[in-house]
Amino acid sequence: MRRVSILGATGSVGQSTIDLIARAPECYDVVALTGGQNIARLAADARALGAEIAVTADEALLPELRAALDGSGVEAAAGRAALIEAAARPADWVMSAIVGAAGLAPGLAALEQGATLALANKESLVTAGPLVMAAARRSGARILPVDSEHSAIFQALVGEEISAVTRVIITASGGAFRDWPLERLARATVAEASSHPNWDMGQRITIDSASMFNKALEMIEAREFFGLTPAQIEVLIHPQSLVHALVGFNDGALMAHVGPPDMRHAIGYALHWPERRALPVAALDLGAVGVLEFRAPDEARSPALRLARVVMEEGGLAGAIFNAAKERALDHFIVGRIGFLDMAPLVEAVLERMLAGPDAARGDLTLDRVAHMDHLARECADVVARDIKQQG
Ligand code: NAD
Ligand code: MG
Repeated sequence: MRRVSILGATGSVGQSTIDLIARAPECYDVVALTGGQNIARLAADARALGAEIAVTADEALLPELRAALDGSGVEAAAGRAALIEAAARPADWVMSAIVGAAGLAPGLAALEQGATLALANKESLVTAGPLVMAAARRSGARILPVDSEHSAIFQALVGEEISAVTRVIITASGGAFRDWPLERLARATVAEASSHPNWDMGQRITIDSASMFNKALEMIEAREFFGLTPAQIEVLIHPQSLVHALVGFNDGALMAHVGPPDMRHAIGYALHWPERRALPVAALDLGAVGVLEFRAPDEARSPALRLARVVMEEGGLAGAIFNAAKERALDHFIVGRIGFLDMAPLVEAVLERMLAGPDAARGDLTLDRVAHMDHLARECADVVARDIKQQG
């Protein structure tokens, strides 16, 4: 029996993970499931899987969670400390699928206890990549990428020497607004940005796909995970979302990973690694697909990609600033305070102000400094958002 925990169990990646685990309950001992506001889902899954503990991030919802778990034998807990404590419970495999910087500390706790960390939470690597990789080295824990592009790169590297890699190409569907003219983008609504042409994902990453901020995060994620230089990381628009990434080698070969846009592939690969096992993923009929298109992204439409390069060159705390500003810009867009095209200038303004300020001065990257920077960047983002609203 493998002991497994799922952080962010009620979300899109969390539910796909549960789908796989629930197909073979005899193989897994479920330790912890964590969620946020969706108590009914959390409690139902914790009961069905016989989890040891269910944790909601929201302390106010503890009574509701307790009531929902009454008589089940599943422990109930709430709040950030409880979340980290649950992630630190001995387990063999932990899925990190909380959205946002909130996923960093629980993921680190899982790594510190030596669990294999299946990492969907890209924000961990964006905000504190060197800390996350060092935690894994210290405890001897493995990190397996779950982001589909990074799983694709990881799979293309099996049996290869990283020193022979000259480039990686991450593909981007282009999101909901791939073919929209810029004038129309300025008026894009939250509802329009929340529907993805190819993938079924949580709302935040879906909007990040439309703005290309998701791809920006993924460029930084690739740099941190695979130890690549910024110049080795390329992005191509690929509307079909079937080729997830390509790895280029020194002999000119490109190894592409091709598969249907179903996260259960990357999750299942991380669950069964180093083996490959059958997964409930549809076989791809390339004859029916016919054409796979690729084109270079237009940087004028996608300032997020340019900002990712600034962050990669800068290193240090730039990732924490970038991610926090991006998360706040997204919050402001979702509540209607700023427009879709205001998000990138907001993030850029925060990056400029904070990288010039005293707090970003180089020093050791520590969890405390990352948290402090995250906090300051959010405050700065709120000020910039107010300015944008006043001007608009
Ligand atoms: P989601 O919004 O569907 O789910 C997020 C989960 O995190 C939920 O369980 C929610 O309760 C929990 N959560 C939210 N805020 C929290 C907080 N402050 N503290 C603790 N828990 C909190 O998100 P998702 O689409 O499943 O994405 C999860 C992560 O995986 C993100 O980092 C995303 O970038 C990454 N990812 C997702 C996909 C996808 O297909 N959805 C693909 C690649 C990578
Ligand atoms: Mg991805």
